[in-house]
Amino acid sequence: MAIELAKRVLDRLEEHGFEAYYVGGCVRDWLLQRPVHDIDICTNAHPGDVILLFPDHVPTGLKHGTVSVKVEGQLFEVTTFRTEGKYEDYRRPAEVQFVSELRLDLERRDFTMNAMAMDRHQVLHDPFGGQEDIEHRLVRAVGIPLERFQEDALRLLRGVRFASQLGFVIEDQTMLAMKQMAPLLAHIAVERIREELNKTLDSKAPEVGCQLLNETRLMAYAPEVEKLFILSNEHAWRLRHLQTVTQKWSLLLFAANYSPVQAREVCRFLKMSKRETEAICCLVELLTRLQPKWDVPQEIEWGPLLLEVGWDTCNEFFLLLQACWWEERQSFSMQALLDQYENMPVKTIKDLAITGLDLQVAVQKKPGEWIVRVLESLLRQTALHGLPNTPEALVEVAKKEVAQDEH
Ligand code: ATP
Ligand code: MG
Repeated sequence: MAIELAKRVLDRLEEHGFEAYYVGGCVRDWLLQRPVHDIDICTNAHPGDVILLFPDHVPTGLKHGTVSVKVEGQLFEVTTFRTEGKYEDYRRPAEVQFVSELRLDLERRDFTMNAMAMDRHQVLHDPFGGQEDIEHRLVRAVGIPLERFQEDALRLLRGVRFASQLGFVIEDQTMLAMKQMAPLLAHIAVERIREELNKTLDSKAPEVGCQLLNETRLMAYAPEVEKLFILSNEHAWRLRHLQTVTQKWSLLLFAANYSPVQAREVCRFLKMSKRETEAICCLVELLTRLQPKWDVPQEIEWGPLLLEVGWDTCNEFFLLLQACWWEERQSFSMQALLDQYENMPVKTIKDLAITGLDLQVAVQKKPGEWIVRVLESLLRQTALHGLPNTPEALVEVAKKEVAQDEH
C-alpha cells in the first residue's frame, strides 16, 4: 500500500534519469519483517530537481536536502545523498554536502542495519554488512565506533533503543566505544534523551535497554536517573507487563524506592510535560502509600481510592499492581475494582442530590471551605456507607456535621 505509493516516487525520479532508493529504517524493518511506519527515500537528484518533479511537496528541510513529497495524501521524505561536514557540539553537523554516490550517504548513518538502501526492483545495497548483522542480531556502528559516537552522542542512546526494540545484542567494539563515550550524552538536549528513553521503555524488551543503560553507564552524567535504573534493575522485567510509559516510569521509580518528591525531580530533570509528571507522581504516591510487596497480592479497598483519584487513575494503578504481583496474577483480578465501581451509587460530588448552594441555603452559613469538606464527606457516606442520596437525608447529615464542626 504505502510502498506502492512510495514506488511511484522512485519510478518518477528514475524516469527522469536520477537514482532513487528506499533507505534506512524501512529497509531494516522489511528485512526483519516488522511493520514499517515511515518510508524514507534517498536520491542523487538535488532538492531543486525534486521540487520540480513533484509539485505537491513540502520543503521540510531544504538546507539538509529533504523535501517531503505527497502522493495521494501520504508524505514521503526524499533526501538528496549527502555527507555531513564537521560535527559541532557532539550533536549536529555544521553543514551538509550533497554528493553523487549512494555509498557516501550510507556511510554517514549510525548503525549497519540502518545503512542499507533498496531500489525499486528490491535489489539491496548493503556496503557495511547490515543484512548479516541483522541475521546475527547485532547492533554495530558503521565505521569506527568511537568516531561515530563522538560526532553525534545521541547515537549512544539510539543504540540502546534499537537493541531493546529488536532484542539485539550490541557488538563488542561498539559496546566498548559506548562505554567510553558515555559522558558525551551531557551535550545532548534532554528532550531528545527523554524521547529515546521513552522509546526504550516502550519497546519489546525494555529490560534489555535498562540493563544496557547500567552496563554502559550512559546516564552517569545524570546521577538521579542513573541511580533509578541501577536500583530498579531487578524488577525491570516487569515492564513488559505494562502498557504505557507513564506506568513504566512509575514502576521503575517505585522499584528504586524513590519517594514522590524524588520522582518529581526525575520528571523535572527529563523535562516531562506537566500532565505526565502529575500522572507519574500520583501513581508513585499511591504505590508509596500502599507499599505493595513484590509478588504478594493483597486485598485493596478500592472504594476510597476511587473517590480520591477517579476511575482512570485507579485503572492505571490496578495495572501497576498487576505488574508488581505478576506471578500471582491469576488470583488478582480486575473484578473487585469493577464491582466496587459499579456498586457505588454516586461517584463524584456532581452526582449528589444537593449542590453546594443548596447546602449553604439549608445550613444558613457563609460560603467557605466548609462546603467542599462537607460535600466530600457526604460523597463518602453515600458512595461507600449506604447514606441515601436524597436531599433530605443529605441535608440532615450536613447539618449535624456543621454543628459538630462549630463545637
Ligand atoms: P524508527 O523506527 O525509530 O523511525 P529509524 O531507523 O527510521 O527508526 P529515524 O530517526 O527515523 O530512525 O532515522 C532514519 C534514518 O536516518 C536511520 O535509519 C539512519 O539511517 C539515519 N539516522 C537517524 N538518526 C541518525 C543519527 N543520529 N546518526 C546517524 N544516522 C541517523
Ligand atoms: Mg524512521
